[in-house]
Amino acid sequence: MPVLDQRLVPVFEEVLSRNPGEAEFHQAVREVLESLGPVVAKHPQYADSAVIRRLCEPERQIIFRVPWVTDGGEIEVNRGFRVEFSSTLGPYKGGLRFHPSVYLGIVKFLGFEQIFKNALTGLPIGGGKGGSDFDPKGRTDAEVMRFCQSFMTELYRHLGEYTDVPAGDIGVGGRELGYMFGQYKRITNRYESGTLTGKGLSWGGSQVRTEATGYGTVFFVDEMLRAAGSSIEGKKVVVSGSGNVAIYAIDKVHQLGGVVIACSDSSGYVVDEAGIDVELLKEIKNVRRGRISEYVELRGGNATFVADGSIWDVPCEIALPCATQNELTATGAAELIRNGCRIVAEGANMPTTPAAIKLFGEAQIQFAPAKAVNAGGVATSALEMQQNASRDSWSFEYTEDRLSNIMRGIHDRCLETADEYGSPGNYVAGANIAGFTRVADAMLALGVI
Ligand code: GLU
Repeated sequence: MPVLDQRLVPVFEEVLSRNPGEAEFHQAVREVLESLGPVVAKHPQYADSAVIRRLCEPERQIIFRVPWVTDGGEIEVNRGFRVEFSSTLGPYKGGLRFHPSVYLGIVKFLGFEQIFKNALTGLPIGGGKGGSDFDPKGRTDAEVMRFCQSFMTELYRHLGEYTDVPAGDIGVGGRELGYMFGQYKRITNRYESGTLTGKGLSWGGSQVRTEATGYGTVFFVDEMLRAAGSSIEGKKVVVSGSGNVAIYAIDKVHQLGGVVIACSDSSGYVVDEAGIDVELLKEIKNVRRGRISEYVELRGGNATFVADGSIWDVPCEIALPCATQNELTATGAAELIRNGCRIVAEGANMPTTPAAIKLFGEAQIQFAPAKAVNAGGVATSALEMQQNASRDSWSFEYTEDRLSNIMRGIHDRCLETADEYGSPGNYVAGANIAGFTRVADAMLALGVI
């Protein structure tokens, strides 16, 4: 593990002792602190004013009971969370995740990352995250609706377009956001579109929001390649996952002339050398809500399904982990390096373990972190908030153009900042430092809050 600057050791120790058992949160904090050594050396005011200590403590953490009734009349009880981490730059902004693995440590890691990601976009949004240990998989629409209504019946009192604006994440897409917005509107008797983002196009949503995280990920990779005098055209790409981020990353790689030859879900992975059929993937995942193993039968041709094993065994030039945290370990990284992969960019949040990141560094693989790469989702959420605030709606082309400019801006800011702080070409240092300094400077201006 890289050593921490002496001034940051007590900060990390405080995080460990205050948040016992929250391994993912510790990992996310450590990763940012490791980048901040040169920053506190150059600007001691950040350490002196306890800005970093303050940032590691959420402004507010809400935990609540979510009772609901199954189709069979059974009463289920889940736990709901919203961690309002930082409102320095704007209303708390970040998604809701519904997955059985969700507990406070996951929500805090995601909320912490969100602060710096949102800062990097340059838009006026603070950081937060929420969710529940509810598993929508295998539940009927009616059950999902009752769960979402119960969840929102508690959460609504903490939300508002100037206060806290959730969106989707794993397990929360258009269907869930619809049920939650419906309940919010009913309880408050207000059509406050700007309270949730990722809404459907007919009820206040923005063009490109569904595609934004995946598209933005590929725009970022395109910038990395451009900076090295190359492009995506003709490149072989592997994308893990098959949810919203993966689907639209695959779509954009194909639009830009690359080919995605493999994708996955928790049951295994599919290899299709002819290029993953995105429309078929959407049909399987969004309409049938099925498993990726169905792809082979429906697609025909030479596609194969591998139930055991790792998608990182598939040789590629570019790897895009777009499934979930810590999915790309040192074993997967070693395999990618052995097979000649040159670029790894994180579409999911913190999908690469610290050991894998270290291996990529040693092998001089270009590695770009989630808070820069996948910021297109939340950036487009901020564009949705702009449209809602001005009661406007923009065209697909205009919105996609804004997204692509934002991604270029984030990319350039990362490289410029990495240069400025003595780590040229290091996207992790660039993203962490550029995100941090924007929030930290605003915190200094606002006093001890
Ligand atoms: N859940 C997404 C993320 O990880 C989007 C958040 C949002 O749009 O608020 O950034």
